[in-house]
Amino acid sequence: MPTSNDGIMVILSSPSGAGKTTLVNLLSKKNNFEISISHTTRKPRPKELSGKDYYFVSDQEFKRLIKNEEFLEYAKVFNNYYGTTRTPVINNLNKGKNVLFDIDWQGADQIKNKNLDFKLITFFILPPSKEILYERLSNRDMKDKLIAEERMKQFERDVLHWINYNYVVINDDLDTCYDKIQNLINAEINNGSKDYDSEYIRNHVESLTS
Ligand code: ADP
Ligand code: 5GP
Repeated sequence: MPTSNDGIMVILSSPSGAGKTTLVNLLSKKNNFEISISHTTRKPRPKELSGKDYYFVSDQEFKRLIKNEEFLEYAKVFNNYYGTTRTPVINNLNKGKNVLFDIDWQGADQIKNKNLDFKLITFFILPPSKEILYERLSNRDMKDKLIAEERMKQFERDVLHWINYNYVVINDDLDTCYDKIQNLINAEINNGSKDYDSEYIRNHVESLTS
């Protein structure tokens, strides 16, 4: 059983471009949250720094970490490997720090299935519409229209995983979305009442997938 001195784990997943990295950064700035920094074989985007956004490593180094069983979870996403090393996460949780994960559905499933002795809350972030998602992806990966198009194709598959999360939140206005997530985390921690309309979410998912 988790004790009240332990930290909690909060996972944010989403189809690429829906805004989970932005939300994770916002949550970590305003709260007692440590971001779990993943390892990846992907190349850094402009302004991304190793040790802050990711640990950018070679295929060879990633395979070494797999072999040494250092990962709590890892997965192949968009032709690159991404993984969370176990030690920093468990150390932070034992120190009472909350840990935020920006990982995909495969990683979320792996962590869920480990049934660790720490409270886990999972969020799936959705865009308000496919048009807005494409706009956000195109603005972020401006130089490479192909990346935005490839990730839009992946959207159709990724969105199907919403059902496995505790909460689904729509990232239309950033501050509203942040408040919603924060209120749900507080309600989970304090066993308070939750402002969550699952019927509304189900309808929204239908509108995105029809
Ligand atoms: P993800 O981590 O889910 O792939 P990002 O956090 O990188 O997505 O967001 C994708 C792009 O959309 C970024 O350029 C980000 O600044 C922008 N963005 C995120 N949330 C919002 C929002 N609520 N309104 C407008 N733009 C947003
Ligand atoms: P990006 O390349 O846009 O930063 O991330 C691509 C996808 O990989 C996102 O869905 C992101 O959440 C996921 N991701 C990032 N780090 C990890 C990780 O450590 N493990 C897993 N399973 N997915 C990750």
